[in-house]
Amino acid sequence: MSGASASAPGDPHEALYQSFLDTLRARHAGFRIVRKSESPLSRVLDRALRLITGGRQSSFLDRYITTLGARVYVPDRWDAMPAAERYCIMRHEAVHIAQFRRFTWPGMALIYLLLPVPVLFAGGRALIEWEAYRETLAATWEVRGPAAARDPALAEHIVRRFTGPDYVWMWVRAKTIRRAIGRTLDHLEARSAPTAPAPASDPRT
Ligand SMILES: [Zn+2]
Repeated sequence: MSGASASAPGDPHEALYQSFLDTLRARHAGFRIVRKSESPLSRVLDRALRLITGGRQSSFLDRYITTLGARVYVPDRWDAMPAAERYCIMRHEAVHIAQFRRFTWPGMALIYLLLPVPVLFAGGRALIEWEAYRETLAATWEVRGPAAARDPALAEHIVRRFTGPDYVWMWVRAKTIRRAIGRTLDHLEARSAPTAPAPASDPRT
């Protein structure tokens, strides 16, 4: 990343975020955070997305975080965002970095860039994104708590991503995504439930 983080010095999640970056650097040699405004590639993608979606995806440069290989492209306001938000987003993008490794660049390009072939490739795009959004929910649960992870606004935000032009349409039904979100939350609930301590171990009994 260029420049030090400019978020509030007392931000309790800054250390968590920074240590997650350390983990990513150790895991992926090429890991880098790049500002979109400083990346010619991002400007080309921005133009391509506007073209493909007839102008309906026009906020690529200033709203979206994009991962290509081990590089995470962020908007200029990235450093000013709360550390908890940067942490949750980075957990999501870390899934994509791992996917680039697993499926290789040509594999990811096939899934992502052959956008005009919806039937064949939209399903793959949805799977790629869903794996990452599961991580968004897990990270939100971790740093903001169950209530924040269960916030219907977050669910709607995710549903819109899958059903709208953000990812050039993935042809997934909102109902399917809502059900998947519900299953993930149940799983997180089960995982975070304290393992019941055996009451019989009370020394007084
Ligand atoms: Zn994603």
